[in-house]
Amino acid sequence: MVNTPDLMELMAGLIRTPSVSSVSPEFDQSNMALIELLASWLEDLHFNVEILPLPMQPNKANLLASMGSGPGGLVLSGHTDTVPYDAGLWNFDPFKLTEKDQRLYGLGTSDMKGFFALAIEAARRFDPKQFKHPLFILATADEESSMEGAKMLVDLGRPKARHAVIGEPTGMRPVHRHKGIIMEAIHVHGHGGHSSNPSLGVNAIEGLHRAIDMLLNWREELQGAHQNKEFNVPFPTLNLGLVSGGDNPNRICSHAQVHFDLRILPSMDMALVHEELDKRLETVFKETSYRFERRQLSPGTPAMDTDVNAPIVKAIEKLTGYASEAVAFCTEAPYLNSLGMQTVVMGPGDIAQAHQPDEFLSLDRLQPTVDLLEKLIYEFCVQ
Ligand SMILES: [Zn+2]
Repeated sequence: MVNTPDLMELMAGLIRTPSVSSVSPEFDQSNMALIELLASWLEDLHFNVEILPLPMQPNKANLLASMGSGPGGLVLSGHTDTVPYDAGLWNFDPFKLTEKDQRLYGLGTSDMKGFFALAIEAARRFDPKQFKHPLFILATADEESSMEGAKMLVDLGRPKARHAVIGEPTGMRPVHRHKGIIMEAIHVHGHGGHSSNPSLGVNAIEGLHRAIDMLLNWREELQGAHQNKEFNVPFPTLNLGLVSGGDNPNRICSHAQVHFDLRILPSMDMALVHEELDKRLETVFKETSYRFERRQLSPGTPAMDTDVNAPIVKAIEKLTGYASEAVAFCTEAPYLNSLGMQTVVMGPGDIAQAHQPDEFLSLDRLQPTVDLLEKLIYEFCVQ
């Protein structure tokens, strides 16, 4: 216990240790140094610490630390990775915790390495002998890219606990729902040829036109069938984000593609959405000369849906004075929910600062967050 540094040192150590994850290999980094740093602090505090390397990326790992045993229990969870940063746009060193104007600047202060320092600060106010239910600190890998860390936990069926808080930046407001997202590409292949004679080819742009038509009709159907007034945008959205294809006006286009995202409500199942999309594509191109394929641009994240009456939601609503909300960004919460935990997303940062140059955490959020986490640990692990 004597070796674990004070709160500001914890925070500085986390920010000092780079852990960028990205789908672009040139930015992607290991999070192992950060995991080892957390492990050393938590071991000093007598947590049982496990480092769980990712199966597909063994240079990255999750950390699962536990104190106490028994049924139920509380998980304080966060992701160790940050998004890449644009050094030219920062007025501060992204890897040096800088205090200025009542703010702590640094990459990951808000989203969301700072949360680990606050969770450790709250946890060390307890003697493990007090615990009737276990306290877990969970630190995941690759939330900003593949979500492989969270998916691995689902495969392992761990941790087993009843309640979870993910400290993503919500301005300390509890969140019990968010939309899910899929990102897909549809490629349409025709056959090139001279434009003077249409029978010389099969125009892929015209094929893509059919696919886009189908997507827009499907969107209308989905918006008619699914609505949830808790969300700012109370229906599923589908955005066409990119089209490309062809090279010259006098050539029949041989290949064209569209990229889109579809943001689903909690009432929609991600696997069924994919199935339905494939079925509709089959129908569009049945008995035509086109060939098509659908490609996932990202693995997708399911929607989050925690019962608004869950004890952890009620407890955080009572302690913060805020009613739980539905938000538009995705988190690891659906994976923790699928492990049987009732999960709330709530953290001290603000989403407006996430993924931005000069990311910061307001100093006046630190103590209230530590106090809040202390009360939650007491309520769900000690009482
Ligand atoms: Zn985050």
